[in-house]
Amino acid sequence: MEDTIFDKILRKEIPSDVVYEDDDVLAFRDINPQAPTHVVVIPKSKAAGFDRLQSLSPEVVGRYMQGVARAAEKLGLGEGYRVVFNVGRHGLQTVAYVHAHLLGGRMMGWPPG
Ligand code: 5GP
Repeated sequence: MEDTIFDKILRKEIPSDVVYEDDDVLAFRDINPQAPTHVVVIPKSKAAGFDRLQSLSPEVVGRYMQGVARAAEKLGLGEGYRVVFNVGRHGLQTVAYVHAHLLGGRMMGWPPG
């Protein structure tokens, strides 16, 4: 797998604004926020994308999802929020390391663009 910017952030080789971290996930603010709160959550066990989660064990994937929920809880998005996985070319995925976008702090639109 290619070494991505998120691998470097996880190894703390590149600075990031970490908002939540535990044994399973790292959550940090997106450098180009699309909402008042925009945080990226990555699992510490890497898969290249949402479409590669099959390469991880169900337990690891489950702990990742729970980590996303814990990060959202830590952010205090009581009015609600959106969780987005961009996948592949049509999904506009730009970083080949699975990541959930947590977007909140404003009313979302539907359908998404
Ligand atoms: P994608 O388009 O792959 O779903 O999302 C990648 C996200 O990573 C984008 O929202 C982009 O702004 C963010 N991003 C790219 N490079 C960096 C970086 O160096 N630091 C941080 N914090 N976010 C980044």
